[in-house]
Amino acid sequence: MSSPAYQPDNIFAKILRGEMPCYKVFEDDVALAFMDIMPRGEGHTLVIPKTPARGLLDMPADALGPYMQRVQTVAAAAKAAMKADGLTIQQFNETAGGQVVFHLHFHILPRWDGVALKPPGTMGDKAALEANAARIRAAL
Ligand code: AMP
Repeated sequence: MSSPAYQPDNIFAKILRGEMPCYKVFEDDVALAFMDIMPRGEGHTLVIPKTPARGLLDMPADALGPYMQRVQTVAAAAKAAMKADGLTIQQFNETAGGQVVFHLHFHILPRWDGVALKPPGTMGDKAALEANAARIRAAL
């Protein structure tokens, strides 16, 4: 079954157009990275492509490589900046797959030995989000 069409009124499209704020970590012509406002751990960062794709399956193949390079770059910076022991990288497709915002994104989650992820749905502390964004920016 094919994916539904991309909807340009989704919240990440609004962030890309500057209509909504974000705690920005990285931006170039290919991708934008910003802090997840309901972080499941310290340094939880999202990387979105500028290409309007709903999920992984409708992302044009020729845009995927450059986008994944940005995912890797931001992941390395998040791991270094947050002094993490490892990383969890997540990407969800469609409601059945756990997707809530229908603009392609990868979650970068710094991880520490013995530290579980927090449950989803709690707003992050503004000062901590700002501080973590600054730390990760500095490691890029
Ligand atoms: P999912 O589509 O399941 O990967 O989840 C979307 C993610 O986007 C969740 O982790 C939300 O906390 C996050 N999120 C939703 N709105 C915003 C926003 N305005 N800024 C940053 N993160 C957001």
